[in-house]
Amino acid sequence: MADAAAFDYDVAIVGGGPTGCSAGVFTGRYGLDTVVFDRGRSSLQRCAYLENYLGFPGGVDIETFYGLIHDHVEAAGCDLVPDLVEAVELAGGDAAGTETADTDDAAPAGPGFAVTTQSGETVTARRVVSAARYGGDFLEPLGDDEMFVTYEHDGETRTKFDRDYADIEGRTSIDGLYVAAPVSEVNVQAIMSAGQGARVGRSVITDHRLERGYPEDLARHWDWLRPEAELADEAAARDDWRERFDSRVPDDCDLSEERLSELREADVERQREMYVSDETVETRAEKGRERLAARLGVAADSESGSDSGAGPE
Ligand SMILES: Cc1cc2nc3c(=O)[nH]c(=O)nc-3n(C[C@H](O)[C@H](O)[C@H](O)COP(=O)(O)OP(=O)(O)OC[C@H]3O[C@@H](n4cnc5c(N)ncnc54)[C@H](O)[C@@H]3O)c2cc1C
Repeated sequence: MADAAAFDYDVAIVGGGPTGCSAGVFTGRYGLDTVVFDRGRSSLQRCAYLENYLGFPGGVDIETFYGLIHDHVEAAGCDLVPDLVEAVELAGGDAAGTETADTDDAAPAGPGFAVTTQSGETVTARRVVSAARYGGDFLEPLGDDEMFVTYEHDGETRTKFDRDYADIEGRTSIDGLYVAAPVSEVNVQAIMSAGQGARVGRSVITDHRLERGYPEDLARHWDWLRPEAELADEAAARDDWRERFDSRVPDDCDLSEERLSELREADVERQREMYVSDETVETRAEKGRERLAARLGVAADSESGSDSGAGPE
């Protein structure tokens, strides 16, 4: 068991397929320091060609798809480590937490985990997301028998990970442990897996915010971008956001005025960051096209929607 003074990461995700990468995009974009481990048995690698993932009208080959989802987690700020996780254990009790991009980073973190890989590296994280469709064995050191179920095969009694161990939002009975895969009837299609990863990523963010002191009604986070043109009067909008925040703080809230004010201002800043100018949208769109083109090995055409003939047929 590691004795961490501070965690290396806020979130460690085991599995860099559609489920884990999607979870990482959400936690990374929120500003949680996230590592994604990816190696070992993969469902997606067994797929011949992906034809039913939305947004690829002619389908997409698995190598390109993997490259794109891995590019995406890295663009979201996650570390991507090509290593197999062998064990997840409980670690530390009162670690100080990592430096997140959160402007409200003042509350202490809870207990966490030590994640050990095949190459012998161990990192610590406040939260762990299991996103390995065929996996679960690496969670055994946590010692919760409820994770596993027995079944009969050819007269033999075998054990496997219980696909209903987590609730639908990915939470488990172990504080800080989430399961996004394997989950019954969810990871059967790639796009459903990505959806579940996103859902669990949001659960992680909600729980992080609750731990930071946000009242229940304010803990959910929306990763949305809005046109700045909707923000006619910024000062008035900020006042509205403050009012909205205060209206959701319960009467019996026991936070100090000072802490409440920190959280309110952090919330207001996050609301403001959702608004992007036309110029920013255009810059990001151009970068997005370049990124896609680089992965596809074609030239980017800055005229969106134009038929340059540069892409593959
Ligand atoms: C033969 C076959 C064909 C399929 N065809 C389609 C199809 O056409 N369309 C469709 O929508 N779905 C298809 N699927 C289903 C699809 O592959 C899954 O729904 C999807 O890949 C699940 O995503 P995932 O991220 O949960 O799991 P995976 O795709 O299995 O990804 C998990 C990742 O975690 C890594 N990993 C595992 N264990 C560890 C560990 N201990 N440490 C670190 N990393 C680890 C693996 O290397 C892998 O990259 C097919 C599946 C199979 C088996």
